[in-house]
This record gives sequence, C-alpha cells and structure tokens, in this order.
Amino acid sequence: MVGIMRVGIDDTDSPEGMCTTYLGAVLARRLRREGCRVSEALLVRLNPNVPHKTRGNAAIALEVEGDPDGVFALACACVEELADCSAAETNPGVVVAEHPLPPAFYRRAVTGFCTTGEAIALLDACGVRYRGYKNGRGLIGAAAAVSAVFSDTTCELLAYRSHEERGRRVVDRESVFSAEDATYPHTWDSVDRANDVVVCVPHTPDPVLFGIRGESPEWVHAARAHIRSQEPVIEQAYLTNQGTDAHLLPGSIGAMEEGRSYLVAGTVASLPLTGRGGHVAFDLADGGHAVRCMAYEPTRGFRTVVRQLVPGDGVVVAGSFRRGSVNLEKLRVCSLQPLITTRPPVCGACGRRMTSAGLGKGYKCRHCGGRSLRPEVSRARRTLSAGWYEVPPSARRHLAKPLVRFTPAELAGAEGRYLIADCGETGREETGSHPS
Ligand code: ATP
Repeated sequence: MVGIMRVGIDDTDSPEGMCTTYLGAVLARRLRREGCRVSEALLVRLNPNVPHKTRGNAAIALEVEGDPDGVFALACACVEELADCSAAETNPGVVVAEHPLPPAFYRRAVTGFCTTGEAIALLDACGVRYRGYKNGRGLIGAAAAVSAVFSDTTCELLAYRSHEERGRRVVDRESVFSAEDATYPHTWDSVDRANDVVVCVPHTPDPVLFGIRGESPEWVHAARAHIRSQEPVIEQAYLTNQGTDAHLLPGSIGAMEEGRSYLVAGTVASLPLTGRGGHVAFDLADGGHAVRCMAYEPTRGFRTVVRQLVPGDGVVVAGSFRRGSVNLEKLRVCSLQPLITTRPPVCGACGRRMTSAGLGKGYKCRHCGGRSLRPEVSRARRTLSAGWYEVPPSARRHLAKPLVRFTPAELAGAEGRYLIADCGETGREETGSHPS
C-alpha cells in the first residue's frame, strides 16, 4: 500500500570515511529507481556539542511516497551496505514514520541532549518502524530528523566523489571564488575571502567533494554551475537548518547548562587577554554572575574585534557553553563604554603642565605656584563601532546564522530573538555599522 512518510537515518560514518548525507543521496536515488517519489531531502544538524559526533552532527530525512515496508527494507539495506559499522563509534539508526513525530524531540536534539532510551520510547509510543544497529545510538538523530520542523531554512548542494577516488579531491580554486563572486549574498561560505581560503571543499576522508550553501536550490545550482572539478558521482540538494541559529537558546549568565548554545547579554567585565595559542578571553557579567567568553585562534580576525572591547561595554554574545566558557560564534556590541583618561591640567597662569599636589589635594604648578582642583579629562575615540561581528567562514559552525542572512531589523538588534533588551546603555552616541 502506498503512503507518504519520512525516512530518518543517522550515525553511519566514522572518522575513516562515509557520510550520512552521502548515504541519504544514494538512498534517494535507489528509492526513485524503485518507483518511489522523493519529494524532499532534509539535512538536519543537531546539537554541535554532543560527545559522540564524528564531524558535524548531521542526520538526514527523506520525504517519500511509496510502500512503507518496501521503503523501510530499502533504507535498512542501504545502511547495512554503506555504513562504516566496523568503527566502534558507528551505531546507525533508521526510522520510517508515516505520520509526524512530535517536533519537541527535534528541538531537544538540536538545543540539548537526548538518550537512546528516550528515542526508542518515542518511536514505540508513536508506533513507527525503526531499526537500531549495534548500540542503536543513531536512533536519536534518525528520530530527530523525522520529527524536525524548521522555522527557518537554507539549502546545501553537496557533490560527492566515488569510493575509488577517495584519495583525491580536485576542485579548481578559482572557479570556487568565481562561484561566490557570481552568487553572493545568495550563497555564502564557499570561500573565506579575508583569509583567502576555499571553505566548501573538506579535507576529511569522506565522500564529499564540495558543498555549496545558499538561500534556495536555484541559487546553489547557479553557484555550482561555476565550479570546475573532478566528475562527481552524485549531487544532492538538501533543505537544511544550517545557517539558522536553530541551536541557540536565550540565556542568562549563571544559568547556562554545559553543552548547550546561547544568546546572552552582559557587560564586559575584564580586558580581553590573548593567551597561549592566540586564544582571546574576557569575562562577561550580568546580575552578579560572570562567564568567560573565548575567541579561539581559528576565529582569526574576529579576535581583533574582541581585543577592542573594554570593561563596561554592553554586548550580546552567541555561542556554546562548554567547560565554563562561551565559545564565541558572533557578538553584538550594543554600547561602548567611553574611554575617559585624566591627567594633571595645564597651569592657567604660566601654561605649563601641573603635577599632583597629593591625594585629594588637586594639582599645583611647580613653576609659578598656581593651583587647580580639577584634572584635565579627555575622551579617547573608540576604534570599535556598535553592531554585530562574526567569526570568518572558515571558523563558522554549520548551524550558525551568518550575518549576511540577518534582516536589517535583526542587524539593528530590534527583532525577534536578536532583540537587544538589556545590555548596558553607555556610549550610545558611538553607533556604527557591522563589518560584513
Ligand atoms: P555524519 O555527519 O556523517 O552523520 P556526525 O558528525 O553527524 O556524522 P554521527 O556519527 O552521526 O556524527 O554521531 C552523532 C551521534 O550522536 C549519533 O549517534 C546521533 O544519534 C547522536 N546524537 C545526535 N544528537 C544528539 C543529541 N542531541 N543528544 C544525544 N545524542 C545525539
């Protein structure tokens, strides 16, 4: 009997090879060959902080019309053939659901942690077909992919090399830059211009040849047309939650949980310091609590922004809370603390610089004996402007929303989750634009 269903798959790869998105692309073709209609392919990124992920914590879901028993059998056969089950950490899961699963499970899996037992309890309660291999952990991602409802979407076109060609990846660098030139800002993160590197070609031993990210299938295909490379064996355009900040929760300092990712407002409480390895750290405070914020070395030029913060600046930061620190993905400078410097004044009588007359006693002129109670106060110009700043494409997490996707209202901190309600109010006059 023909029905409409979602097929979810996860945990098929290992550090040595394979990729669940490749398996999804192969399965979509095999399903079509068997007469099924595959109407959508979803690439579902889940919590980037889970300990068992191989690379980017991706699961896939296909929307399929066909015979559910046949689809389930084909999906399981595909996993049994292609998953790298020899690796201890590869524990595939397959789910086929003919009716929607509660989206709350997806929300938990993208913002927090789930257990295999919870996934199985959900699948049993919903009465759907599923199969877990080895310890069955992949059922978490497979169930999350099947239950996913995206509030925002982007697209990624993935091109894959053949198994035989696993040793090489030939993608013409200039063609990738021209693809981005021709389609930015409708596609993004194919290259990192500031650091002069190609970002869309991985260096890992998986089947991905390159991946083009953009706002629609039309735009990623338009960019793809520019790229010259070895011949891919398969290409698949996925609808995805990448680049949407789906992992970010509204947070407050002192109430963040390990392994979750937050948008959190506060006041810079210490001068940023560059430590070993070039990592930059500062403290952010709010409501009597403080948290360390980290801009790691791979965030390159973003650290230059962070180093310009001074205590008193009001900021909103976005990033994962891990081992007591927020690992910065982007930040908004809401308010800039005026940089006030004081020094002894110039003597009104003889024009020479005075010196301190002692604690609380003002200033005196050594030359003519003139006196003054007030220092000379000057306001240094801040080199930083208010606005959003982000890590470069080469350091961007899959789920992080690039600023190029922000609406003008979001850039102004005036809309939705990016609304700036409660960071400091100092120095409002020094507004400016964000750098991207
Ligand atoms: P690939 O991109 O090829 O799928 P990966 O980086 O996504 O590799 P996996 O090998 O799939 O990593 O491993 C991630 C494991 O973590 C899977 O077993 C998945 O079911 C599980 N998982 C995903 N999200 C969560 C979560 N929120 N809580 C607990 N486990 C999770």
